[in-house]
Amino acid sequence: MLPEIQATRQFGEMSALTTTYRSRQKVLGYPIDLIDEAGALGVIEEAWKNQKSLHVVTLNAEMVVAAQKDQELDRIIRHAHLIVPDGAGVVWALKLAGHQVSRLPGIELAAASLALCARLNRKVALIGGKPEILEPLQKALRDNYPGINIVAAHNGYWSAEQEAEIVDELSHCEPDLLLVALGVPRQEYFLDRWHQAFPHTVMVGVGGSFDVWTGTVKRAPALFRSLNLEWLYRLLKEPWRFQRMGQALPSFAIQALSEVAKKRLIEKDNHSGARSPGRSTKGKHDKKKKERSKDT
Ligand code: UDP
Repeated sequence: MLPEIQATRQFGEMSALTTTYRSRQKVLGYPIDLIDEAGALGVIEEAWKNQKSLHVVTLNAEMVVAAQKDQELDRIIRHAHLIVPDGAGVVWALKLAGHQVSRLPGIELAAASLALCARLNRKVALIGGKPEILEPLQKALRDNYPGINIVAAHNGYWSAEQEAEIVDELSHCEPDLLLVALGVPRQEYFLDRWHQAFPHTVMVGVGGSFDVWTGTVKRAPALFRSLNLEWLYRLLKEPWRFQRMGQALPSFAIQALSEVAKKRLIEKDNHSGARSPGRSTKGKHDKKKKERSKDT
C-alpha cells in the first residue's frame, strides 16, 4: 500500500459546490437535497470540472432509521455532499411537510451517471457484488453504454487485510466515478474510510444495483414503481428483509407524522398568538357598540 493512502474516519472537508443545487431540506433531522436527475448530473459534472470529490448518498427511510441508531452512519450521511431522495418514504415525508419533490432512485442516478461517463469519456471503477457477477456486470455495462471506460472492477468480498491493497489498486486508476455496491451501511463505512484515496472522484453507494444490472435480481415492475411501492415488491421477493424493514418503515412513518403534527401545532399557536391582539380590539369594539346602543 502506498503511504499516501490511509484509512480515515472523517469526511474532513465539505464540498465547495454551492451553485447548481441547494434546496436542502430535512427529514427527521437528516439533510436531503430536493433535486432531480438532471440537477444531480449537473452537480456531478461540476465536481469533475472543479476536480473535487463528491460523495453521493441515496437516502431512504430504512437508512434514516438505521442512522438514528448508528452514530457512524448518522455522521456519514450528514457529511455527504449530495443526498438524494431515493426512497418513497422520504419523498412522502417531504411532501407531508409541503415540499414538492419526486423520487430519484439511486439505481437510476447511477445508470444516468454511467451514461454520462460513456458520453464524456470519464473513467469508471466498480466495487462490490459477488465475484461471479463481475464479468457479466462489465459486459452488461459495455453493451448498455457503448464506449464506457471501466478502469477497475473488484468484487465486494475481501478480508480486512486485503482492503488497503484493493483500494490502492482502484485509486491508482484515478476513476472519475466510483460505484460501491456493498449494501447499507457497509458501503457508507467503506467510503468514509477511504474517501481521501479518491480526491477527484464522484462516489456513490449503490446497494444491490450490480445484481439488478446483471439480471441476478429483478427490479420491481413499472407498476410497483409508479405507485411508489418498490419497497413492497422487495419485501415480497426478499422476505428476509421483513425484520429490518418491518420495524424501520412504521417507525419512520410515525416519526414523520408526529414531526409534521408538531410543526402544525407550533404554527397554529404562533398564528393565534399573532392574532390575539386583534381579538381584544374586536372585544373592545363590540363593547363600544353595546354602549352606543344603550345610549340611544
Ligand atoms: N455485498 C458485498 N459484500 C459484502 C456484502 C454484500 O459486495 O460483504 C453486496 C451483495 O453481493 C449485494 C449488495 O452488496 O450485491 C447488497 O445489496 P442489497 O440489495 O442487500 O443492498 P441494499 O440496497 O439493501 O443496501
